[in-house]
Amino acid sequence: MTSFVTTVVGSYPAKPDIGDVYALIKGERDPFRSAIEGAVKDQVNAGIQLVSDGQVRADFVTLFARNIPGFKVRAGRPIIVDRITPPEKPTTVDDYIFARDIAKREVKGIVTGPSTLAYASVVNEGAPYKSNDDPELIYDIADAQAMEMRALIKAGAEVIQVDEPVFSVGVDLETGIQAVNKMIEGVKTPVVHVCGDVRDIFQKLLELNVSVLDHEFTRVDNLGAIEREAIEAHGIKVGYGCVDSNDAKVEPIEVIEKRIWKAVEKLDADNIWIDPDCGLRNLTREAAFAKLSNMVKAAKNVEKEIK
Ligand SMILES: [Zn+2]
Repeated sequence: MTSFVTTVVGSYPAKPDIGDVYALIKGERDPFRSAIEGAVKDQVNAGIQLVSDGQVRADFVTLFARNIPGFKVRAGRPIIVDRITPPEKPTTVDDYIFARDIAKREVKGIVTGPSTLAYASVVNEGAPYKSNDDPELIYDIADAQAMEMRALIKAGAEVIQVDEPVFSVGVDLETGIQAVNKMIEGVKTPVVHVCGDVRDIFQKLLELNVSVLDHEFTRVDNLGAIEREAIEAHGIKVGYGCVDSNDAKVEPIEVIEKRIWKAVEKLDADNIWIDPDCGLRNLTREAAFAKLSNMVKAAKNVEKEIK
């Protein structure tokens, strides 16, 4: 019997609870804990199988940049001021463990990829890199993020997703893919998420040593560029984004069901995971929850009809 893995891409619009300001100032209380709890409970209540911590602390670039030596974040903008080296303490592991304690099930680790961190940053004069597409910079960030991966594995993470949205906007894929492959060594079930139009690069992305390639499908006909034979030959499944994470309008269950059927017919049910196109942080919490709930119901309806 078919049973889809349902998951999320990562971010979720749960806000920190500021509450007792004095406790906050004294550092006695972490206001983001309640946001993580809210994000995890919403995902669990929506029926999502493989949940995330909601990435509630910051956007997925500054979250890592502010913890990695060599980066400085000024006015929300990551700047590379020195040689990038692995941080002493991982960025996400405490939140990962907290999320798992709440979910009482497996949680997906999520780490931003080296190319995306490099291209989102400004390289300062005096930093030992030529530009933000300098392969040496990308590999140094990969080493720093490999430390994050190892810490997540040690904490028990089996599924770890690397976010590389910039792969679809014309960056140096040769370097980018090698850097990610280096980073994901030792991960049991590595996932790479690339949103946007991946039609021209999908064949190249198959060089990633991943279990799942995760993309968006509601706005772009990425499905048209993916062949069942090709993914099966590489042993790669497709994370099938089937709800629109940019549109506040909540799709009816039937609409999502039709989308899932298209992927089942082309790629086979065993070759897909079900998730939204991208992170949900730009939606209201109500819309995000409704989208996840409808997505899970649609996936269940399709499962029932598959013989
Ligand atoms: Zn995305």
